[in-house]
Amino acid sequence: MKRSAHVDVLLQPRPPSPLQEVRDDRFERHGVRLLLKRDDLIHTTVPWDADLLGPVELHPPGNKWRKLAPNLRAAVAEGRGCLVTFGGAYSNHLRATAAAGRLLGLGTVGVVRGDELAGRPLNDSLARCAADGMRLHFVSRSQYRRKADPQALAELVREAGAEGAYVVPEGGSNALALHGCAELGRELRGAADVVAVACGTGGTLAGLAAGLGPGQRALGVPVLAGGFLDAEIRALQLAAFGGPAGAWALAEDFHHGGYARVPAALDAFAAGFEDRHGLPVERVYVAKLLWALTELTDSGAFPRGTTLAAVITGRP
Ligand SMILES: *Cc1c(COP(=O)(O)O)cnc(C)c1O
Repeated sequence: MKRSAHVDVLLQPRPPSPLQEVRDDRFERHGVRLLLKRDDLIHTTVPWDADLLGPVELHPPGNKWRKLAPNLRAAVAEGRGCLVTFGGAYSNHLRATAAAGRLLGLGTVGVVRGDELAGRPLNDSLARCAADGMRLHFVSRSQYRRKADPQALAELVREAGAEGAYVVPEGGSNALALHGCAELGRELRGAADVVAVACGTGGTLAGLAAGLGPGQRALGVPVLAGGFLDAEIRALQLAAFGGPAGAWALAEDFHHGGYARVPAALDAFAAGFEDRHGLPVERVYVAKLLWALTELTDSGAFPRGTTLAAVITGRP
């Protein structure tokens, strides 16, 4: 089977991910409707041909797939045999890239932040990358940071033995990725007043906002401390759409201490949400989003009659 045929099967248009209403008194008593946009279920809606591709498990699904798909198409169209990308030791994006590479028969190289990890047993996330055929290249935190400079990036790619590979940036957020995420916004046109999503790089929010219809707005909840995201989202939208696109804002102060910090209160909140609604709540991103929406609703941030859609970007 030719690689381009695999791409066509894997990347064919999908039905929209499910949109579900939940009944929750913490929202209902403020006259706010809460919908869940189940992007965590994207893998179950990919209409693939199991005979063609064999047993398929995309880990993880969700927004990483929306961001990767147009990049995979471009890599294959350019005739690249390999993808190189970047992430931390628990990166969902590294896992998604490794799985996609295996499915498409493309080599993958993952540049991992933290050279202290080299030579140690791999954690579950990195072990999964390796099992999907990703070659891991560990670099120091300072060298990792320098990749923002194009020359340092080229050097890093060379050093990783990935010269000529298709470069996907950290978190998968580039112009093509934003166009993939705009589809998420289009799927939600007319369905909600405010569409909220947790932000790492902000790429998903930047694309989502561009795809929404008139009168709708996107709300991002950064999971990292630092307040740098506003400028990055503007830069991403400039690259993808030539300027600002759609209405969006950030709700800062819900990062709970920073990336991957899960204080006991947040964990208990997430477990409670799981009990109430039977939804597995991913802790790094989704729990912070749902917490933020609950707090904002309680403080009267949304007028009565507002319909909120929370994008469930992944599963635990
Ligand atoms: C990566 C990720 C995000 C954040 O996406 P960005 O486009 O980097 O902002 C949100 N939720 C989950 C589950 C993720 O894996």
